[in-house]
Amino acid sequence: MSAIGIDLGTTNSCVAVYRNERIEIIANDQGSRVTPSWVSFTDTERLIGAAAKEEASMNHENTLFHIKRLIGRKFNDPSVQNDMKRWSFKVVNVGGQPKIQVTFKEETKLFRPEQISAMILTELKEAAEAYMGTQITEVVITVPAYFNDAQRTATKDAGRIAGLNVLRMINEPTAAAIAYGLEVKLEKKRNVLIFDLGGGTFDVTVVTIENQIFDVKATGGDTHLGGGDFDNRLLEHFIEEFNTKHKVDITKNSRAVSRLKVACEPAKMKLSVSTNAKVQVDGLYNGLDFKSNITRAKFEELNSDFFDKTISVVEKVLADAKMKKDVIDDIVLAGGSTRIPKIRSLLKDFFGGKEISRTINPDEAVAYGAAVLAENIRTGKDNTQERFRLQDVIPFSIGTDVRGTDMSVIIPKNTKIPTKQMNVFSTASDNQTAVLFGVFEGENPKVKDNHQLGSFLLTGISPKPAGEAPILSVFAIDSSGVLQVIALDLASGNTKDITITNDDRRLAEKEINDMIAAAEKMKVGDNTAKEKDSAINKLEELVYKVNQLVESDSATISPRERRGLLAKSKEVFDFAKSNENADIGVIRKKTSELETYFNKVREYSEYLKSPEGILTILADDNKTGYIPAIDFS
Ligand code: ADP
Ligand code: MG
Repeated sequence: MSAIGIDLGTTNSCVAVYRNERIEIIANDQGSRVTPSWVSFTDTERLIGAAAKEEASMNHENTLFHIKRLIGRKFNDPSVQNDMKRWSFKVVNVGGQPKIQVTFKEETKLFRPEQISAMILTELKEAAEAYMGTQITEVVITVPAYFNDAQRTATKDAGRIAGLNVLRMINEPTAAAIAYGLEVKLEKKRNVLIFDLGGGTFDVTVVTIENQIFDVKATGGDTHLGGGDFDNRLLEHFIEEFNTKHKVDITKNSRAVSRLKVACEPAKMKLSVSTNAKVQVDGLYNGLDFKSNITRAKFEELNSDFFDKTISVVEKVLADAKMKKDVIDDIVLAGGSTRIPKIRSLLKDFFGGKEISRTINPDEAVAYGAAVLAENIRTGKDNTQERFRLQDVIPFSIGTDVRGTDMSVIIPKNTKIPTKQMNVFSTASDNQTAVLFGVFEGENPKVKDNHQLGSFLLTGISPKPAGEAPILSVFAIDSSGVLQVIALDLASGNTKDITITNDDRRLAEKEINDMIAAAEKMKVGDNTAKEKDSAINKLEELVYKVNQLVESDSATISPRERRGLLAKSKEVFDFAKSNENADIGVIRKKTSELETYFNKVREYSEYLKSPEGILTILADDNKTGYIPAIDFS
């Protein structure tokens, strides 16, 4: 059975599989090799991918995008709050967690970000199944290198909701490095810098590749920087221009803002190949048209702080890798936003004019690498030889507040994974029977400035003088970068008393099972929507044929049959069209009755054109060209 690789992107997703000794990128049912990570809910159906994106300006409240920016975050996370201001769909606070509220088939529904991501994963899984002709359950999913533990766990849950067994999660730039290393077939040791700038996230990774060992030296990035931000800068610029010119404020009208935003992205893309772009939106606001022009220079100026930031991240990652920029042999680009000429030139200048590699496709490299790893894990399980070895690192330091308000680092950032660190600490006061400690990630010396992953309460410690009750903590990070922490009272040896106050962001097993069931149910709904579409299509074709027959073969069809056919086809058509909730079974039954009627008339009309038929007509006293007395009903 095959295992697939999925690049679950903020903006676009891509799926790949290893087949016939090579990696193949799988096209979706519209023939496209990347699928927009969009989901839209309408009165009648759920759309995923390009069809959902097309809904954006008509149905903006129920059309979801950039959901990856929400995954694994809390509602009052400043980044969530900031995104919400610009989003046309509604995010609500449910017990501290963000949920997305939509109207679907005239009902209000709430979804966790994991559920929306699961819908995209399912779409890709199904494309792969159609391509391979088999069921697929095993997958490697990529995540930004800078994703934290909560974001990784939530992504893994999304995979489970989609009915997938997530073999591993791999950092996106590392996946791109694998694609590059295998595609170029490097002969000797190379230091490779991956620069991955997509729609919403930015990652930089330095990897040393030698003898098919991919050794990640350092990684860094920004989970909140990408093409979407550049679009927003354009949007803000145009809003200001329009407001000033017409003395209005369109920001209150979310439909107008959505429509203008939809127009910004193509303008930005145009500026990658041209120095000028036009933007036009008819009847944008109060009947006023929007018409403007933007130059590449202006676009670069609007985004210069973002662009500069990418270079400072590169500098930081090089410092973490303890490498000077001149030891980098290859610069590899991934992500759609690396097509922006200014980004390329800044990067090239930073590396002293060094040429940037163009051997791999920036849209497909990440999925490619994920598929290679999926195959490697799958065949590795069968004990066949591994094609390559991967040594990745964690992006953040992990530590505790055991010693008060300071961050006590247990696993420093850029440590190779998987890893396990044991640490013995002790009680702080006499006869202390419980300790509570928090687990944090981040580089700040004070825990309050870092990101809290969870807290652990260890009870039932045997009473001892301060400092004499040894407690062991084990911090383990698996090869997907997911953390597990265990604390143990060494004196009693009793681990049962450990209470883990899990991070409330995490989904409980039951919740996941409920979501799997809900996802299955929605899939059935999708199928019925698709089936209904095809039933109506078939009916429309038939109605067309009826009309053609009635018009073209008038000589051989009696007025009674003609009237009968037209009336019957109108009746069936009106029923299907006016009855939103019409049962597909009833539509099919009515279509089939019409078809039988149509076939009889057509056959008889054909018969009348045959020699025998002509004889029948000649024998008819009225010579009208048809036999009106036949009952077709
Ligand atoms: P993600 O990894 O976030 O899913 P992608 O790597 O697919 O994203 O990149 C999508 C982003 O790249 C979008 O913001 C899109 O506008 C941008 N993009 C794609 N092509 C171009 C281009 N020719 N010029 C500028 N930006 C582009
Ligand atoms: Mg990407």
